[in-house]
Amino acid sequence: MGQSSRRNHSFPECPAAVGAASPKRAAATVIMTVALFVQACAPSFDPEVSCNFVLNSQGQRVSWGGNVPVDIYLDASVPAQFHEPIRRAAESWNQMEGRTLLKIRTESNPGSARPERDGFNKLYFMSTWESDRPAKEQARTTIYWSGPQIQETDIRINAQNFQFFIDETDRTYDKVHLESLVLHELGHALGLAHNDSWLSVMQTILGYGQIRATISDPEKTSMSCEY
Ligand SMILES: [Zn+2]
Repeated sequence: MGQSSRRNHSFPECPAAVGAASPKRAAATVIMTVALFVQACAPSFDPEVSCNFVLNSQGQRVSWGGNVPVDIYLDASVPAQFHEPIRRAAESWNQMEGRTLLKIRTESNPGSARPERDGFNKLYFMSTWESDRPAKEQARTTIYWSGPQIQETDIRINAQNFQFFIDETDRTYDKVHLESLVLHELGHALGLAHNDSWLSVMQTILGYGQIRATISDPEKTSMSCEY
């Protein structure tokens, strides 16, 4: 990414191992990969328990901490019919926490028209998936941090290679449930890593036609470590 003295962590949707791009393929499913870029050194700290959060190079969990709510702007590329499912996904995290962690903003479209570090947290529908990324990624979330503090996040939805459905009424098994996908990506935006417990919304794989939009015990336990 080229930043100096900054770190970022990118969660290609449905990612696997940290530090390597390792896409996996399963019949009707898609995996993401994770790329970790670490540059610059800092004073060392005692490692913390991960609580399933991303850890920085000093072994500290990265999160927004008290710096909430986090405004996430929907780029103009996001079709209007998907605004509400995205809001519902954010509201699931807020309800679980009992306070507002995430605010989905649609009244303006600040920042860059392409995902980049621009001072705004944005969600984009990418009609052209970046050529250096696997086409089978459903989405990818990047977080930027300094020390343990997340400073920015950008979420890319792969609208070139996937189609999305809203609920049971338009579900087909060749489409991805957008609310479930965004719920997972917002978990990354909050600092969470993958969790392959079958109860977790942070499982790496989301199948076509699968609805997984209820936050359960694994994330409740994780989130209590940081929020
Ligand atoms: Zn993921």
